[in-house]
Amino acid sequence: MHAPATLRIHGDAIADNTRRIAQSTRAEVMAVVKADGFGHGRAALRALDAGATRLGVATIEEALPLRWAGVEAPILSWLNPVESDTVGALRNRIELAVPSQAHLARIAADATRLGIRAAVHLHVDTGMARDGAPPEEWKSLCELARLYEARGSIRVVGIMSHLARADEPGHPLTLRQRLVFDAAVRSARRRGLAPRHVHLAATAATLTDTATHLDLVRVGAGLYGIDPSHTTDLRGAMTLSARVTTVRDVPAATPVGYGSRYVTDGPTRLALVPLGYADGVPRALSPHAEAQVRGRRVPIAGAVSMDQLVLDVGALGVEPGEEVVLFGPGDAGEPTLREWADWAGTIEHEVVTRIGGRVHVEDAA
Ligand SMILES: *Cc1c(COP(=O)(O)O)cnc(C)c1O
Repeated sequence: MHAPATLRIHGDAIADNTRRIAQSTRAEVMAVVKADGFGHGRAALRALDAGATRLGVATIEEALPLRWAGVEAPILSWLNPVESDTVGALRNRIELAVPSQAHLARIAADATRLGIRAAVHLHVDTGMARDGAPPEEWKSLCELARLYEARGSIRVVGIMSHLARADEPGHPLTLRQRLVFDAAVRSARRRGLAPRHVHLAATAATLTDTATHLDLVRVGAGLYGIDPSHTTDLRGAMTLSARVTTVRDVPAATPVGYGSRYVTDGPTRLALVPLGYADGVPRALSPHAEAQVRGRRVPIAGAVSMDQLVLDVGALGVEPGEEVVLFGPGDAGEPTLREWADWAGTIEHEVVTRIGGRVHVEDAA
């Protein structure tokens, strides 16, 4: 029996990408496995086996199952409301990033109640006005952290920030952010803090700018073969495929799908594929989008529906039950994730994190 649609996860590619990145830097590698490993599922163990020494996730809810699964490596969670499950995090030795005094006070109070010392990374915004403490709050955040350290409730083990334009190698904002970050770290040290892990780089900066590596690089996209800087050939780690449901032979000038957006050129065969936007195939795909069947690329005909799309397979003789590859690493000429992201007017990250729950997931080499 074949599943209608299958997502193959190439664990070896994740391991290779991790190894390659770990060998290219003297910094420690934190494998970022948020959003279900960027949609790749159990990536954490492969990355840890291949040279990553820590894990990073957005929320505490993402961190806890990693501990329950037996991961012993340090885990950092950096995006939580003040009123989140800090107690659960501390009990499970999850390190927490701290973007505000309110967060710090809450973590210190819970640590005191539990009779432990919380390991935290102070998070500073250095130029993207997103997560992390605004620069004007940095000194007071450091001073409060020092106070809690003296009382024994927290320990500042790290300082972190994030880069806005590292995917544009050599962009002046990256240098400016690095200088702001250096100043923030110096300011923290002057206030008596002694962070062991100072970290700034994600995938793009890790691949293009060693000056940003510092003690630790936080690599997500790159593990999964996505290089936002387009400078490095990493291995794609996902193949999305499906089985043809039905085929039909139609004459020239046959309108296909909602809105009749595609009209056949000549007599041809149409193959119905059971994957739609509910499964993560972007409805915004351009008219140039393609899939692969019988080793050949064929156009996606017309609008992507919720559950299905149609291929114009011409004279290839495609039959029901045959496998169609939507995208993959590109090794066999199939469309790549990068092409799909371009056809959808988005980035690869969005495509891989949106594959729907109906798609059967399989581990592959
Ligand atoms: C998602 C995220 C990363 C990983 O970024 P990539 O570009 O995918 O490597 C690193 N740091 C923070 C704070 C993040 O939110």
